[in-house]
Amino acid sequence: MDISVVVPLYNEAESLPELEAWIARVMTENHFSYEVIFVDDGSTDNSWQVIENLQKANPNIRGISFRRNYGKSPALNTGFARAKGDVVITMDADLQDSPDEIPELYRMITEDGYDLVSGYKKKRYDPLSKTIPTKLFNATARAVSGIKNLHDFNCGLKAYRQKVVKHIEVHGDMHRYIPYLAKLAGFNKIGEKVVHHQARKYGTTKFGLDRFVNGYLDLATLWFTGKFGKKPMHFFGLLGSLMFFLGFIAVAVVGIMKLYHMHAGHPYSLVTDSPYFFLSLTLMLLGSQLFLAGFIGELIVRNSTLRNQYEIDKTINIMTND
Ligand code: UDP
Ligand code: MG
Repeated sequence: MDISVVVPLYNEAESLPELEAWIARVMTENHFSYEVIFVDDGSTDNSWQVIENLQKANPNIRGISFRRNYGKSPALNTGFARAKGDVVITMDADLQDSPDEIPELYRMITEDGYDLVSGYKKKRYDPLSKTIPTKLFNATARAVSGIKNLHDFNCGLKAYRQKVVKHIEVHGDMHRYIPYLAKLAGFNKIGEKVVHHQARKYGTTKFGLDRFVNGYLDLATLWFTGKFGKKPMHFFGLLGSLMFFLGFIAVAVVGIMKLYHMHAGHPYSLVTDSPYFFLSLTLMLLGSQLFLAGFIGELIVRNSTLRNQYEIDKTINIMTND
């Protein structure tokens, strides 16, 4: 099968028939063999009935329905697990993304050799309250992830080589960082395509402004787990030692100064009168706590089933179950 289109949706009943017809038209015109996997993320409108009816007319439609609303990431992850196409394309259900982009995305994966191509909504039809924070968000994501060529991490329209979606796990709200997840899994050929964007035609957005707060927290998590997930002591140990060392120097200076003044017969004050004493106390306490956090992290990693899980790309003369 050439293409799997994975569509996560939550209360998008009005958009679905138009979206399905549009996808089907593009697929037939370009002679692709395809499936569309609608993942109904616990909709409370009649989205699921709409999907059932669409399936009756088009056998290429598949549907998965969550009993409750989990979020876009769980929906994508579940769709990815079932996708059979050589190229997997994700798009939002709200008609903001255009199925007309599919053939070129497919070509970029199969001919240009990209692992992942992300859409870039260069001209957006979203309110200003969303577009400005989005610019900041993307600049931070570029800097932290090191994927310098992406302008729009969270674009719903993306294309993947099948291998990619089978080797990443999208949970929580991590769909905003799929390119970063892919990079952490060792997929380096990440490209971008400028795509058309449209204003939402039906329904309302499912994400509020808290998306930016959560987005930054998730980015911090990914950076930390990507860099130190398998060796937490390298993070906590370094920070803890540095703080402890600074504190130790400060307290030593305070103590030595006092001893010196006593010895020389100068007037001297109590060590507890010096602000450096309290500073060093705090630094040494926090430093040892961080160090201990590092040890605890290491104990957790030891017990994790992921501690020795690596992405193996190729092998020579090695049986898969050796
Ligand atoms: N979505 C979902 N589960 C949720 C929230 C959203 O499956 O809990 C789907 C939604 O139906 C849409 C896509 O994710 O197909 C993008 O959501 P939305 O259009 O609300 O986001 P925006 O375009 O405002 O970023
Ligand atoms: Mg939308």
